[in-house]
Amino acid sequence: MSLIYQTKGIVLSSREFRESDRWYKVYTQDGGKVEFLARGGSKSLAKLTPHLEMVAESDFMLVQGRHYKILAGVERRRSFANIYDNLFKMTLAKNALHLVDIGTCADEDDSAVYELLKNWLNFINETNEFSRGRASFLLGSFAWNLMAITGYLPELHRCLSCRDAIQGGMYKWHGLRGGVVCERCIDKNTEHWFASRQISDQTIKLIRFSLQESFINQLNPHISGQLLDDFHEVTESFIVSHFPTIPANSIRASCSLI
Ligand SMILES: [Zn+2]
Repeated sequence: MSLIYQTKGIVLSSREFRESDRWYKVYTQDGGKVEFLARGGSKSLAKLTPHLEMVAESDFMLVQGRHYKILAGVERRRSFANIYDNLFKMTLAKNALHLVDIGTCADEDDSAVYELLKNWLNFINETNEFSRGRASFLLGSFAWNLMAITGYLPELHRCLSCRDAIQGGMYKWHGLRGGVVCERCIDKNTEHWFASRQISDQTIKLIRFSLQESFINQLNPHISGQLLDDFHEVTESFIVSHFPTIPANSIRASCSLI
């Protein structure tokens, strides 16, 4: 017995399978990340492929088979046309799709991830080009927001150990344990907090800012080169500590390819 159903989603990635089939991973609005097989044996895949390769929001018709889902049809609802003709925008879109692909598990329903991804694609589609430095900050911001809604919201206000509000300059950062720890607690148990590292007040403020503001508002403030370097170092270490899979490129390297 099989079940046919329709779902709205955005293609994250694809890979070849056998001679003419492909597996696709799609982040859906209602059912989280879903993987399905598109069969190319008939001519139908050739007709569907352009819809699947675009950065777009589409309706997918899927058949739930005994062991896996199979694509029966796809219709594009919204293409992000400005992204498609622009290498800069395409790189930012693809990197965010990759982060969602490796940072989420299959069939975990989370509509907030879908909204974040859609917001990001809208933002990239509609905003004029900005500098590489700004792009690398924004992609880092996307990663923080993704981690926050998938269960890794960093602690940026209170000491992880004693829960007191942190005081300027009197704390350190422990990426693996998920946030800031005050110097008093580190002194009490240096072994436990051995891997904590210095972090500036500005870097903490910038991470808070990236989690609070819309992407469009994050185009405005001046960010010095040193602050951006610190922000990336903390971002990368948090990703490596908490993502199920480590990204193919660092955030900075992704943006230097543009
Ligand atoms: Zn403490």
